[in-house]
Amino acid sequence: MSKVTIVTGGSRGIGAATAKLLASHGHAVCVNYLSNADAASKVVSEIEAAGGRALAVQADTSVEADVMRMFETVDKELGTLTGLVNNAGTNGRRTRVDDLRPDEICELLDINVLGCIICAREAVKRMSTAHGGKGGAIVNVSSGSANIGNPGIGVLYATSKGALNSFSIGLAQEVAAEGVRVNIVAPGMTQTDMPGADRIAAQASKIPMGRVAEPIEVAEAIYFLLSDNASYIAGANIRVGGGRL
Ligand code: NAP
Repeated sequence: MSKVTIVTGGSRGIGAATAKLLASHGHAVCVNYLSNADAASKVVSEIEAAGGRALAVQADTSVEADVMRMFETVDKELGTLTGLVNNAGTNGRRTRVDDLRPDEICELLDINVLGCIICAREAVKRMSTAHGGKGGAIVNVSSGSANIGNPGIGVLYATSKGALNSFSIGLAQEVAAEGVRVNIVAPGMTQTDMPGADRIAAQASKIPMGRVAEPIEVAEAIYFLLSDNASYIAGANIRVGGGRL
C-alpha cells in the first residue's frame, strides 16, 4: 500500500527533515505549517524536484476546525492516510513556574498536547480497522525534557511532553489490535530554530556525544517507526539524545 503521511510542523526543523526523508522513501507527504508559507513551499519544491509527492497545508494544529480541514484536504488530494507525525510544537517563553501566566500555559498546552490529541484522533478514525481503515502508524515527537523536567526555564514545556508520552502509551494499547502502531521519538537538543543558538552552545558540552542532534538524525528514527520494519513496535519511546537519558 502506498504511504500517505501528515507531518505537522513540516515547514522547518525536525518536521522539514522528516517530510523530505519520508518523501525520499516514497511517502506522499502533507507538509503542515502554521504561518511560514515560504518555508513550507520550499520543502514541497525540494520534494517535487527529487521526484516525490507533497502538499503544503496551513493549519493551526491547536484549532480543531483547522485540523479537520487539513485531514479532509489530505483525504481528497493525497489519498488514504497511512501515517501521522505529531511534530508541531512550541517551547514557549523561557521562565520559571512562579512567573507563568494562565494564558501562556493554555497556549502551550493547546499546541503541544491538545493539537497532538486531535490530530491523533483524526488519524485513528481513518486508519483503524475498527473504523474500516487499513491500519497505519503514528509517531509523537516528544522530548527528553519529559525525563529531565527543565527546571528554571521550561517546566511547562517538559510537562506538556510528559503528557504526550502518557497519551502515546495509552493510545498505543487502545489501537494496537486495530492495525495502528503508536510510538514516541524523544529528541534531545536539536539544531533547529527552537532552542536558539545560545542554548545550543551552552548545552552541547553536557551531552555525552558532545554535540546536539542534526534534524535528519531525529527524522531517521521517525521514519523507522513509520516503516514496515517496525511492524511489532508499539508504545515504544526512542530517545534520540546523543547518550543523554
Ligand atoms: P521548529 O524548528 O521551531 O519548527 C516548528 C514547526 O512547528 C514549524 O514548522 C512551525 O510552523 C510548526 N508549528 C508551530 N506551532 C504550530 C501550530 N500551532 N500548528 C501547526 N504548526 C505549528 O521546531 P523543531 O525544533 O523542529 O521541533 C519539532 C518538534 O521537536 C517539537 O515538537 C519540539 O518540541 C520537539 N523537540 C525539539 C527539540 C529541539 O532541540 N529542537 C528537542 C526536543 C524536542 P511555521 O514554520 O509555520 O512557524
